[in-house]
Amino acid sequence: MKLSLSRRWIIGATLLVFGSLTSLTCAFVQEYKSGKVWPEVKVVDPGKPGEPPADAIVLFDGTDMSQWDGGEKWIVENGYAIVKGGDITSKQSFGSCQLHLEWAAPEKIEGTGQGRGNSGIFLMSTYEVQILDSYNNETYPDGQAGAVYKQHPPLVNVCRKPGEWQTYDIVFNAPKFDEQGKVTKPAYITVLHNGVLIQNHFEIEGGTFWHKPAEYTKHPDKLPLKLQFHGNPVRFRNIWVREL
Ligand code: MG
Repeated sequence: MKLSLSRRWIIGATLLVFGSLTSLTCAFVQEYKSGKVWPEVKVVDPGKPGEPPADAIVLFDGTDMSQWDGGEKWIVENGYAIVKGGDITSKQSFGSCQLHLEWAAPEKIEGTGQGRGNSGIFLMSTYEVQILDSYNNETYPDGQAGAVYKQHPPLVNVCRKPGEWQTYDIVFNAPKFDEQGKVTKPAYITVLHNGVLIQNHFEIEGGTFWHKPAEYTKHPDKLPLKLQFHGNPVRFRNIWVREL
């Protein structure tokens, strides 16, 4: 499109006026600064995709279960651990934390409902995020994969097929108790399953139980993580945690 000389002159003049006004505004308006004094932000190497960040505590890197009490009962092969013979608990205790773990339900489908690919990660050995083969497997919503067991179902079911590796990324805020054992701040949990948000800062109602309602009982600020033995050969790999 060709513009006439007079139109070009008008456009040019308009741009000039706007430019001058902007410069004038910048001269009179100052940048907002919060005034808060922050320490320099620590640099952490995030690692290559699939690797733990540099400041993570690695609880299982595929080679041995030395970080776990009871881990000697589980089978370690091909870079993963297979559930066997009993629950295991981390030797180190944790409170609020970020946790990453990868798990796979058995490829061969055996059992139904809660009997199929069942395990679980218990924060502070007390609050279970369910691990279950929830791929075309009917069970109660607050008992399926990613549920805060018997308290809150996952927001969506993003379970992969049995045998396929899946990730949990969990942000957990530990509860606080007063001297008398009363909860002064409940626990909160956020969970991503295969990168998808399935628990959004859920307020945990207490310990998770199979046989009774949720209930808080005062406990120390830090406790071991627990991985559940439920009779199914669920596999685990790449487990790491960052204390918050
Ligand atoms: Mg379980």
